[in-house]
Amino acid sequence: MEWLIIGGGIHGVHIAARLLGETGVAPGRLRIVDPGDRLLERWRICADTIGMTRLRSPSVHHLDLNPRSLSYFASRRRRRRRENKPFAGVYDRPSLALFNAHSDHVLKTFGLPDLHIQDRATEGSVDSDGVEITLSSGRKIATRNVVLAVGGGEQPEWPNWASRNVSGVHHVFDPSFDGWPSTTETVAVLGGGLSAAQTALRLKSEGHRVHMVSRHALREHRFDSAPGWLGPKYMVGFNREKDLARRRAIITEARHRGSVPRGVRIALCGAAARNQIHWHEGEVEALDRQSDALALRLKTHQLLHVDRVLLATGFSALRPGGSVVETLIASASLPCAGCGYPIVDPQLRWHPRIRVSGPLAELELGPVARNIAGARRAGDRLVGVA
Ligand SMILES: Cc1cc2nc3c(=O)[nH]c(=O)nc-3n(C[C@H](O)[C@H](O)[C@H](O)COP(=O)(O)OP(=O)(O)OC[C@H]3O[C@@H](n4cnc5c(N)ncnc54)[C@H](O)[C@@H]3O)c2cc1C
Repeated sequence: MEWLIIGGGIHGVHIAARLLGETGVAPGRLRIVDPGDRLLERWRICADTIGMTRLRSPSVHHLDLNPRSLSYFASRRRRRRRENKPFAGVYDRPSLALFNAHSDHVLKTFGLPDLHIQDRATEGSVDSDGVEITLSSGRKIATRNVVLAVGGGEQPEWPNWASRNVSGVHHVFDPSFDGWPSTTETVAVLGGGLSAAQTALRLKSEGHRVHMVSRHALREHRFDSAPGWLGPKYMVGFNREKDLARRRAIITEARHRGSVPRGVRIALCGAAARNQIHWHEGEVEALDRQSDALALRLKTHQLLHVDRVLLATGFSALRPGGSVVETLIASASLPCAGCGYPIVDPQLRWHPRIRVSGPLAELELGPVARNIAGARRAGDRLVGVA
């Protein structure tokens, strides 16, 4: 194998398209290993669970090569079917249906489903010829190059007070999530960001009684980091910063975690004003099961009795990748910063044979690394156009 991409999410799929479409790698020499039934499965499940209808990012952020590809695709599709607002706002944010249809088009164009190995990479070791990756099935794959595109999607963030053993408490991004209410219930949604807001709005639209509990007031931001991070405006200074602890602090400060764009804020405030969503600002002190209800005690001394708690608290900030990343680090003494994340070169090489994308590329690509824009940036670096 010439290229093995570990992770078939937004990042792995875009990197595969770039390698096949721009560097002349033959399809027979590239594979994507991912445990999902199909590529992009985690993306689709997460977006569907929270009832997302539109992307937060603009139309030029997608999985194909040409930045205008999604717009062209939408024009062709519009002729065939009438779609209500395929794009919205000044940045032409695409509908989820359009983005997903276009992603399917990219998968088909590059024949990526045929290159998908449905399995999990569990171990890796490096030698002078390349990398050997062991899969959970026991199969071993020898490859000249590896791209680690494992994403953070398997690491939902559980607050300390939320025990995984209490029935009725679920994280909406848990890979085994099956906690959506099937009959009308009183549900507490925990979190103050976009996924919490969308979860609360979906529950409301389905007739549930909804409490939303956030540690902070609603924060409005159009994107989850300022557009200046997409170009030289902020990235020149970031690249100049050689202290990686300082880089990590810059990333943390630049990411508007727990924020919502204007349209969602308006929808949420409207629902709260009509008492369709009950908004609570405060930290949770304790959560107990009391016979058939859950009691959620806030530090503001409020006590909520609910049938179900849905955590929409995002993803852990810990380095993703688990054992395959750990064994690769051990095998080749790969350098890590104090935060545990890879120290890579501008081509995103952690080792001459190992490249990274997504969160693992954060200390090089900055605050947008995890997003679709970050996948495109990683693609540019990998194929050598940036
Ligand atoms: C609901 C939601 C909405 C978002 N909306 C936007 C948006 O509008 N615009 C934007 O730019 N960004 C958005 N994001 C952020 C980001 O683009 C997504 O999180 C995106 O899915 C990240 O892609 P990824 O490939 O890095 O990670 P993932 O989606 O997590 O995919 C990684 C894949 O790697 C697999 N994997 C992990 N470990 C292994 C292993 N050892 N072996 C094999 N496979 C492995 C996982 O199973 C997974 O399938 C959104 C995120 C969420 C959750």
